[in-house]
Amino acid sequence: MSTSTPKRFPASLKSAAAPQRELLMPQRHLHQATRDAARLARPSGAGLDSGAVRQRMVDRLRAEGKFDEHVLAAMASVPRHEFVDSALAAQAYEDTALPIGHGQTISKPSVVAHMLGLLMSGAGARQRGSLGRVLEIGTGCGYQAAVIALLARHVTSIERLQGLHDKAKLNLQRVGLPRVPRLIWGDGRLGHAASGPFDCIIAAAGGEDIPAAWTEQLAPGGRLIAPTAASGRGQVLVVLDHVVEAGVSRWARSEHEAVLFVPLKSGVL
Ligand code: SAH
Repeated sequence: MSTSTPKRFPASLKSAAAPQRELLMPQRHLHQATRDAARLARPSGAGLDSGAVRQRMVDRLRAEGKFDEHVLAAMASVPRHEFVDSALAAQAYEDTALPIGHGQTISKPSVVAHMLGLLMSGAGARQRGSLGRVLEIGTGCGYQAAVIALLARHVTSIERLQGLHDKAKLNLQRVGLPRVPRLIWGDGRLGHAASGPFDCIIAAAGGEDIPAAWTEQLAPGGRLIAPTAASGRGQVLVVLDHVVEAGVSRWARSEHEAVLFVPLKSGVL
């Protein structure tokens, strides 16, 4: 029997404070958390379901004063703990990335809020008051797709790993949403022309470049956000706006902060 003192679980908020550079694959820490969680009594489902814990997560994000209110309201109504393994449910409302199986992670709530806020501040979304038609690349466990579904008219989300695609389907059915995202098992680098064109495109995995299919499927006035390699800066959040002036299209690119997302890969598994 081990005599070592168990580590504090769940981790304190202070220890979950955002590092300078977002690291979205904190495997070691999370494996430790899973082991610690197994030693403790299961978290009370009632406590997590009450919405109070979730509201506190949103209140902490709101206190930072930099997130979009519509996005925060959507996040206040999506039960993040339903999308992660039950052993990690107690950590679901801390600002931390969590493993979702198959070597992938669900992004930190603050990263989700930031990226969706950037989409909401695009010219088209501001005018509509909605994200409109959205394409998400990297469904993962389906959490972000659920948040987007509350902010958009229609969501198509693509995942290349069949195991996660199936998992997301079950998660989204269980949670129940007024508008259910359309889930596709496929290579998101190709976009999904049949569901486009899209007012917003969001990638949850980082690539070397922005695939041509995405810019082609971005509607006039639309905005795309994707973690992408930038020369000399590693991976950064890139925003691309499809601007039409005098009948001519151009794509205005801006680079935001450095991030580290799981890689955007080709093909399906
Ligand atoms: N938004 C997700 C986070 C998923 S992590 C959530 O809320 O859970 C990123 C996901 O992108 C992984 O599941 C990974 O398998 C997927 N991915 C990577 N490359 C892809 C591609 N070319 N097409 C579709 N999905 C891809």
